[in-house]
Amino acid sequence: MTSIPTQGASRIAFFGLGKMGLPMASRLVAAGWTVTGFDPFDGAREAFEKAGGRTDGAAARAAEGASVAITMLPDGKAVRTLLAGPDGIAAKLAPGAIVIDMSSSAPVGTRDLAADLAKDGVVLIDAPVSGGVKRAIDGSLAIMVGGDADAVAAAKPLLEAMGTSIFSTGPIGSGHAMKALNNYVSAAGLTAACEALQVGQSFGLDPALMTDILNVSTGRNNSTEVKLKPFVIPKSYTSGFSMALMAKDLRTADDLARHQGVAAPLSRAVASLWTDALADLGPTADHTAIDAYVAKPGKDA
Ligand code: NAD
Repeated sequence: MTSIPTQGASRIAFFGLGKMGLPMASRLVAAGWTVTGFDPFDGAREAFEKAGGRTDGAAARAAEGASVAITMLPDGKAVRTLLAGPDGIAAKLAPGAIVIDMSSSAPVGTRDLAADLAKDGVVLIDAPVSGGVKRAIDGSLAIMVGGDADAVAAAKPLLEAMGTSIFSTGPIGSGHAMKALNNYVSAAGLTAACEALQVGQSFGLDPALMTDILNVSTGRNNSTEVKLKPFVIPKSYTSGFSMALMAKDLRTADDLARHQGVAAPLSRAVASLWTDALADLGPTADHTAIDAYVAKPGKDA
C-alpha cells in the first residue's frame, strides 16, 4: 500500500507555481504540509515563499527524496520532460513515490508515462482540476482522479486541501480524459454564448439583459453564469485562463475522439475554431477573448 507523509513532514515536491499551481500549493502549506516548490520563473518561487512555502531553484533538488510529487504544468509534454526526460526527476524521488499530475494533460500520453514511470517504481495518478483561479484560492476545485486505487486513496488527504468535489474516474488517464471533455463542453458553451451576444447586440438587444434572460432560460451554462458579465460584456478578457491552454485542451479532446474512433463533428469544429483564434490573437490572449474573435468580420465561426 502506497503511503504519503503526514502534515509537517517535508516530503512533498510541487512543480509549476503558475496561476493555478501557486494557490494550490499554498493551500497545502496552509493545511500543514511542508512543501518544496519549483518553477523556473523566479517571481513564482518568490510568491510561494511569501505564502510560507519552501522553494529550490533546481527541480532535481526539489524532488530529492520526496515521496509525493505534484505537477501543475502547461501540458503533458512538460510533465513527461520534467519526470522522464534526459534530466528527469523521477529517479530522484523516494522509492514507491506517488506522482500526482494535476495539469490538464493528454490522457493517452498519461497512460504511456505511467507505464514508463512504473519501471522505476514510481506510481503516477492523474488528478486534473476544474474551477479556475478563484476556486484554486478558496480550495473548492473539482478534481477528477484516475489511477491505482491505493495510490488515489493515499493522495486523498492532499487533494482534499485543494478541492471539495473529488471524483475517482477509473484507471490511469481517465481523469485527464474527463477534464479534456469537460473543457470541450465548456468552450462550446462559451463560444455559443459570445456569438449569441454579438448577434443579439447587432439586432439592438442589450447584452446584460440577454445574459439575465439566458440565466433563467434553457440557454444557461457556466459561461453565461460566471463569464459574460465580468469578462465578456466589459471586454476585459481577464478570467485568468489563457486561450492557449483552452485551445490545447480542445485539441486533446479532439485527439481523444479520433483515438476512440468517434466522429464528434462539433468537437472537431470547436477545436479548429479555437486553434485559428489563438493564431489570430496570440499566446497572451485570455480564453474569454474568443468573444473578440467571433465578432471579427469575415469569420465563418
Ligand atoms: P500557468 O502558465 O500560469 O502556469 C504554469 C507554470 O508552470 C508556469 O509558472 C511555468 O513557469 C511553470 N513551468 C513550466 N515548466 C515547468 C517545469 N518543468 N517545472 C516547474 N514549473 C514549470 O498555467 P495555469 O493557468 O496555472 O495552468 C496550469 C495547468 O492547469 C494547465 O495544464 C492548465 O490547462 C490547467 N488548468 C488551468 C486553469 C486556469 O483557470 N488557469 C483551470 C483548470 C486547469
